[in-house]
Amino acid sequence: MFALIRELFPLCRSITGDGVRQTLRILERFIPLNVHEVPTGTQVFDWSVPKEWNIRDAYVKNSQGERIIDFRNSNLHVVGYSTPINRRMPLAEFRSHLFSSPEHPDWVPYRTSFYQDNWGFCVSHNQFLSLKDDVYEVCIDSSLEPGFLTYGEYHLPGKSSEEVLISTHVCHPSLCNDNLSGVAVSVFLASHLCRWPHRRFSYRFLFIPSTIGSITWLAHNEGIVRRIRHGLVLACLGDPGCLTYKRSRRSTAPIDRAAVYVLQQSGAPYEVLDFSPLGYDERQFCSPGFDLPVGCLMRTPNGRYPEYHTSADNLNFLRPEALLDSLEKALNILQLLEENDVFVNLNPMCEPQLGRRGLYQGTRGQSNPPEHEAALLWVLNGSTGSESLLDIAERSRLDFRVIRQAADALQSHGLLGTRTDTRASR
Ligand code: ZN
Repeated sequence: MFALIRELFPLCRSITGDGVRQTLRILERFIPLNVHEVPTGTQVFDWSVPKEWNIRDAYVKNSQGERIIDFRNSNLHVVGYSTPINRRMPLAEFRSHLFSSPEHPDWVPYRTSFYQDNWGFCVSHNQFLSLKDDVYEVCIDSSLEPGFLTYGEYHLPGKSSEEVLISTHVCHPSLCNDNLSGVAVSVFLASHLCRWPHRRFSYRFLFIPSTIGSITWLAHNEGIVRRIRHGLVLACLGDPGCLTYKRSRRSTAPIDRAAVYVLQQSGAPYEVLDFSPLGYDERQFCSPGFDLPVGCLMRTPNGRYPEYHTSADNLNFLRPEALLDSLEKALNILQLLEENDVFVNLNPMCEPQLGRRGLYQGTRGQSNPPEHEAALLWVLNGSTGSESLLDIAERSRLDFRVIRQAADALQSHGLLGTRTDTRASR
């Protein structure tokens, strides 16, 4: 994942343009992507697909001809979606197009102007303060023209047409945690899921520009939307902070309960946030007209770490072990949803005699039976056809895997049946 991020880091991504195309082409080495191109001007709900932005070079030269601000050093130096310019101007005129961050004087901030024609440069505050009264040559060799919005989609079929949606944004330039960590975890999640032999759900991975990408996808896929049973937005997954789960608008959908349960059981510190209509593309997936069960898995949330949207969100800020931990937790959440069946106790009049069937081996009289034996009793008692294994795991505080193994053992002895094709997710 770290190597993939290092390869993607230099590309100048934005909500449209060749940076996104190049990014998707690299991802295609890992998973087969369906790349969609949606023309500028396409109406998507209350929005329309913007013009496509591309940039070749940008700089500011002083009167000695030195490139004192140089896009080649960092694409963060140019305000995203800057309109083209090539003019000489005095500092006084140039200054209103300069952005810096006095709180972190060594870092270059990340700024955009997507839906308002403007141009600008971002510099460290120290550089801003050091600029001399001079006539500067200001050049942004960009284009903002009718073109396309590009996004990638990967559909991985399972036994059922019911879907799990995994969405991550691909619109940030040289920033690591926000958004390349999400991209890398999502790609590796997909390549792991390919290898699960008995996938119940179908999985749909989206690599989209934030906001306009999810709005565009939702506007064009209302038929698929009806099949979404669970979903996760993945973002900010490589920083040293603990994992954070932000609930869907529904608050207690199976994805919410599965994510909170996995974080709880991990024994590591974690945080759970209630839904808010701020943040990433969960804002669109959880808009009231859709209200999809889509939560957001992060480490430190957007805006809550000083490096956020600055040049300090770079490769040094990422922790490979944090990426791995995020991937493992995401896999655990999905595995739990895959295995979260609802059973019916076929022998509900008192407990069945488990010892006779070789299911109960512990010495009698122990004050606490071994976990797997306690799990047998919990599963038998809870399986009335309405409670899922996650319900039982939550109530018993036992590990979900132990509960699942108990259910499998009881089923193989004819003590548990499934409700025909019943899904706990309904
Ligand atoms: Zn961001």
